[in-house]
Amino acid sequence: MTRGREARPHIGIFGRTNVGKSSFINTITGQDISIVSDLAGTTTDPVKKSVELLGIGPVVLVDTAGFDDRSPLGKRRIKRTREVFDIIDVAILLITDNRLSDTDRHLMAAFQSEAVPFLIVHNKSDVIPWEHDAARIPADVGVVDFSSISGQDPRPVLRALEDIVPASAFKKQTLIGDLLSGGDIVLMIVPIDLEAPEGRLILPQVQAIRDILDNDAVAITLKEGEVAAFLKKTGIRPQLVITDSSIFREADAVIPKDIPLTGFSVVLARFKGDFEAYLAGTPQIADLQDGDRILMLESCSHQTSCEDIGRVKIPRWISRFTGKRLHFEVVAGLDTLPQAITDYALVVQCGGCMITPRQVRNRLKPAIQAGIPVSNYGMAIAYVQGVYDRAVAPFMKKRQAQSVKLKG
Ligand code: SF4
Repeated sequence: MTRGREARPHIGIFGRTNVGKSSFINTITGQDISIVSDLAGTTTDPVKKSVELLGIGPVVLVDTAGFDDRSPLGKRRIKRTREVFDIIDVAILLITDNRLSDTDRHLMAAFQSEAVPFLIVHNKSDVIPWEHDAARIPADVGVVDFSSISGQDPRPVLRALEDIVPASAFKKQTLIGDLLSGGDIVLMIVPIDLEAPEGRLILPQVQAIRDILDNDAVAITLKEGEVAAFLKKTGIRPQLVITDSSIFREADAVIPKDIPLTGFSVVLARFKGDFEAYLAGTPQIADLQDGDRILMLESCSHQTSCEDIGRVKIPRWISRFTGKRLHFEVVAGLDTLPQAITDYALVVQCGGCMITPRQVRNRLKPAIQAGIPVSNYGMAIAYVQGVYDRAVAPFMKKRQAQSVKLKG
């Protein structure tokens, strides 16, 4: 499946200065690149670089310069650690000289408490050979003995990395393949209006087409105005219809009730959001009260095709549906929230097409832990347009089947 840069698995590279991060990165990527800041401890944002790793595929390496013994302790380091942990799927901790610094031990504890799979690479082994007992590393932590300076074969590192990566981050996943059988027909309804990007489809639409083809099914894409005539003229009865969420109500009216209908952003919500939390939180839109604050989380910091949806349409639809005076605040990118999460009565997350599943889930974690209802753009739209039950039904059937299987 095609992935945008930000949706690729993110690998954090950690290690104190002088452990040979630059040469390590050059060796495992087979390229002469440098993503490492020259001034350790001065970088305020992690530096990212898209690369291709042998046997693993496209990933984003995240440099964490500044996490070394000389960087200042305190709030700034903790904040940066938090930010990096929120975006990475897996970590590599470089050490040398059979030595773990206090920072290394702190990082290992944090990897474990944050459930970030990690690997230790003992680098520069040509200078000081690896001695497991000297470093006092717990036996269950994977260590690869390595020497990037002498141009060692990177495959042992890449194989070890492949072994610890979470399936959700690196393995090929399917958007809707589990709902399809070979030869099934999926009809996609895509408005080509002023908000549609010039000359192309948006990422979730392209991903859905590729997923349908990967699963030996048939993808038909139509504009909303052509759907009724197409179904009548051809007599085709699709096994699934996926619509742009902004026209849920129109699609609901035109697609016969016995044909499953959902939205691209509901598909994405199940694929990379916290679908169970969305299912629990979305109906709580009906309980909103006058004066409640609603946090809209957009995962792009640049201009997006969701801008109008998240900033104008969803606030208008939710306000109209509830009949309450509500305050909406939009936070773009992965920035810090403007106020405490407990100040909000509802959090609505975008589809997150440009970021990884772990990043979406970490973004929602504070709200879920605080007991704040969370929803998703597509699910919220479906709810306020009265098509929620229909939009989630295809996935509920799958969910019930899985639960029966587990019980059996
Ligand atoms: S705001 Fe969210 S859904 Fe929209 S393009 Fe960005 S990541 Fe994708």
